[in-house]
Amino acid sequence: MTLAPYAVQDGTSRGRRHPEPAPANRSEYQRDRDRIIHSAAFRRLEYKTQVFINHEGDLFRTRLTHSIEVAQIARSVARALGLNEDLTEAIALAHDLGHTPFGHSGQDALNECMKQYGGFEHNLQSLRVVDLLEERYAEFPGLNLTFETREGILKHCSVKNARELGELGRRFLEKTQPGLEAQLVNIADEIAYNNHDVDDGLRSGLITLEQLKPVSLFAGQYDEVMRRYPDIPPRRAIYETIRRMIGQVVTDLIENSRRRITRAGIRSIEDVRRQPESLIACTPEVAEKSRELKRFLRQNLYAHERVTHMMGEAVQIVRQLFEAFMKDATLLPPQYQEKLRQPAGTGEQARIVADYIAGMTDRYAMREHARMLGHPGAQTSG
Ligand code: MG
Repeated sequence: MTLAPYAVQDGTSRGRRHPEPAPANRSEYQRDRDRIIHSAAFRRLEYKTQVFINHEGDLFRTRLTHSIEVAQIARSVARALGLNEDLTEAIALAHDLGHTPFGHSGQDALNECMKQYGGFEHNLQSLRVVDLLEERYAEFPGLNLTFETREGILKHCSVKNARELGELGRRFLEKTQPGLEAQLVNIADEIAYNNHDVDDGLRSGLITLEQLKPVSLFAGQYDEVMRRYPDIPPRRAIYETIRRMIGQVVTDLIENSRRRITRAGIRSIEDVRRQPESLIACTPEVAEKSRELKRFLRQNLYAHERVTHMMGEAVQIVRQLFEAFMKDATLLPPQYQEKLRQPAGTGEQARIVADYIAGMTDRYAMREHARMLGHPGAQTSG
């Protein structure tokens, strides 16, 4: 399939940090995607969660299934717009690699622990995973991905960190845009979690159909489903509604982005980068409906007492693990202790501890916590 002139292409790539010969039978971005799939951090996504802790039920999304759903949505849009599907998929599969256990609470807790040592940002950590922490190749640390994949992984970044990142951080200082594939994955991420959290939220019983009925994105499709299939069983009505919600937002995204690209007269990736804002975007009406759904989920699901209670425990686990490893580095696994062999300052030790904790899955963190601190609430059936 021919790519649009504004798609990222092998021939115009800004390359890898450690130069390598071009791959023989696949594109540069296929190679990136393949390296991500073979990484340890990718496999760990199976046991990391965003909203529900991993052992609560086998049907809830994990970061692994979330990442695959993001890739699915993003690839459909990429193909429709003539963007680079391989790159899109690589970014989607890697976008959550740096996440701590226990979703955002885990990340906030670790950020708090790291406050005096430069903080902890999950986007930056994802980059750290692919640039440094994966140890798989003889010739370089990390996965040595292309600039474009790394650019897509680094969604946000503080100005302070951007300054230290050189070329990759420049767009945050100059307020330019990343490639369209990176812009796309960013939105596909939101579309994926808004919709699957409705599904998981309903299944868990933490939110109800009645509560969702006033939410316009949901109501628009649900009413239509019930009108057309009045006898449909409830579970199927919900699935059919969610599938239509995704369809509506994705179609809007494709059509509106196409219009924006045409209107801005975009002919190349340089044109894309120079734009004052993202070209991949929904219409204002659909964007507002998505925000409404997001607000609903924040108030009713993410802030649900059962979720916050669980997350409160998760915060304790992360905090206590951090303190324990800071106090006694010999509790760290040998490969992490090795990194400390040279005389290290507390800042360096803190970063190594943060890398170790961030890499943990939910259940591994609970087990480590129970083993080290014997906290009864930390027992896990997983
Ligand atoms: Mg995500």
